[in-house]
Amino acid sequence: MSTVSSYGSQWLLGTYYYATLPWRAWWNRAEARAGRAPIIVLFYHRIADHTWNAWTMPTRTFERQVKWLSEHFEMISLAQAQARLAAGHNARPAVAITFDDGYAENCDFALPLLIEHAIPVSYFVASRHVIERQPFPHDAAVGKPLPTNSIDELRDLAAAGIEIGAHTRNHADLGKVRDPAELQEEIVICRTELEQAVGRPIRYFSFPFGLHRNLTSEAFAAAREAGFAAVCSAYGGYNLPGDDPFHLQRIHADREMIRLKNWLSVDPRKQALVRRFVPDVENAHVLAGADDL
Ligand SMILES: [Zn+2]
Repeated sequence: MSTVSSYGSQWLLGTYYYATLPWRAWWNRAEARAGRAPIIVLFYHRIADHTWNAWTMPTRTFERQVKWLSEHFEMISLAQAQARLAAGHNARPAVAITFDDGYAENCDFALPLLIEHAIPVSYFVASRHVIERQPFPHDAAVGKPLPTNSIDELRDLAAAGIEIGAHTRNHADLGKVRDPAELQEEIVICRTELEQAVGRPIRYFSFPFGLHRNLTSEAFAAAREAGFAAVCSAYGGYNLPGDDPFHLQRIHADREMIRLKNWLSVDPRKQALVRRFVPDVENAHVLAGADDL
């Protein structure tokens, strides 16, 4: 039953996508000519062909997506994305690929594929889970404790040009953290211990869950004070030239190709529905009081 309705919704989406594509393509070209081409940051979790769950994508699907993305977009790093946002000009639609959590199986297929094709990727890991090789809480909760990356793997990935980023220590929902010491642990200590373990600067941070309710002004301030170059959310939304380069909004890489295509050819009507999270920087000085903790 759910399969039938899933095919039905895919058919509807396909009809919508192809019916509106000429108009959207025209709109996207006009925006690009004006230097307002979007910068899309995608997030993946786990690419594997076994132990299925909602955050796993099959290797064949991932391969197809990477091929399609490479043919239609300029593939850029987060640093390049930031530079274009800051410059206020982007002439070609661009995509940056990121991963969250730190699943071991990504080293089997997905990351070697990206390295082979020289596609930039930022790889966010929850530091305690990779250092102690402890399964993530969301996997343990459903009785499927999947293996995490090891520090040796992360060092090899960094040596191959992959940007390793921070995703808190304990895969924490920072929307619920009010204690400055806990915020310090999840953001500052996470960064320090990852830098020591991987032996490289850790420049970027991604919020676990990443929806509006998982973001706070205090966490943004803490990440800025900790020295991160940018933070990533995960509620959808496009980054447009002129946007704040410290906050990169990300879009989930849906395993259904038609959904991915629909998201990535900017639909101005949908764009208007995504509300950007804007931290209240004036009133968020969380770490100032945490120095002596
Ligand atoms: Zn995560």
